[in-house]
Amino acid sequence: MSYSFSLSFSLSALSFIFTSVSDTIISVRNLTKQYQADQAGGIKNISFDIDRGDVVAIIGESGSGKSTLLKSIYGLLKTDQGEILFNNERVKGPDEQLIPGHKQMKMVTQDFSLNIYAKVYDNIASQLSNTDLKTKSEKTLSIMEHLRILPLQNKKIIELSGGEQQRVAIAKAMVADTKVLLLDEPFSQVDALLKNQLRADIKRVAAETGVTVILVSHDPADGLFLADQLLIVRDGELLQTGKPSEIYQQPKHIYTAQILGNAVVLSRGDAEKIGIKTFAASVVFYPEWAEISSNWSSRRFEVKDVYYKGFYDELLLERNGVAVRAIQLNRGEYKKNDHVQLNISRFLEF
Ligand code: ADP
Ligand code: MG
Repeated sequence: MSYSFSLSFSLSALSFIFTSVSDTIISVRNLTKQYQADQAGGIKNISFDIDRGDVVAIIGESGSGKSTLLKSIYGLLKTDQGEILFNNERVKGPDEQLIPGHKQMKMVTQDFSLNIYAKVYDNIASQLSNTDLKTKSEKTLSIMEHLRILPLQNKKIIELSGGEQQRVAIAKAMVADTKVLLLDEPFSQVDALLKNQLRADIKRVAAETGVTVILVSHDPADGLFLADQLLIVRDGELLQTGKPSEIYQQPKHIYTAQILGNAVVLSRGDAEKIGIKTFAASVVFYPEWAEISSNWSSRRFEVKDVYYKGFYDELLLERNGVAVRAIQLNRGEYKKNDHVQLNISRFLEF
């Protein structure tokens, strides 16, 4: 009796410890970096937290400050204001230590920084010390297996494709017990087909090893598919952060709906011209929120164009001079100059 009591007590004490310990690995607090005093550029007052083991995607157009943010987190850039905490400890800037960059983080940039004449295996193993050769080889082979590059181990880097080099660079960055992996545009040199595979592999490796991944991309498709947390940046500002599905369904800014889902944006006047009543300045909806039908008696939209999108068509429709886009899954059903009805079942107001 007393035994079962003490067991249940210690279990609840344990769960208390686990839930009360913060699971945040990185906190970015009011981070500001301006490269030139009188010019735009850099990042402005950015704050967010990252949970341990999450895959985080930072999405924004070119020049929006993604690389600046990534370098700041790693400790490569001297920032103007704010701080980064790694396990509640402040990350030192480049002027505060001999070798810039946090020891438990690694950053993979677009140039990969690989020794192109050395073998894949040696590039990765070079990150580990020679004091324990058995562990060195075990760890190297293990990370290569995680990234599915074991068959490449004896090839030289110059013999590899861009996508293969990307995998080697990630393996090299992860092999020495890295806790946070920073990836700057990891998909930019990878073909569309292999991209899906690399995305899935990054997600899987994060789950298997517990490493926290922060990746930067200008292509929202990379983030939406993969990330536990998404950050949308524009002109150096963080517009919104959260789960991909939440941000997609409830964007706080019109821009977010445009970059994530190529949303249709209408002024109030234009919205009214196609039958949407609103008091807001703008109405926003994703093309897939608009249902097309030819069954209704009133077919007031004219099909202006049909764009082939693979497994669906996107239709450009017009009514009273207002153009909108809608998705047609049943490909080829409508063609130019057809008339259809559109039921916009859901829209957001801004
Ligand atoms: P992204 O990675 O999203 O393309 P960056 O972080 O590289 O954007 O750059 C953000 C802005 O800061 C851009 O306007 C860029 O021109 C500017 N910038 C980046 N690095 C420097 C630098 N070393 N000196 C001056 N301006 C810079
Ligand atoms: Mg960049």
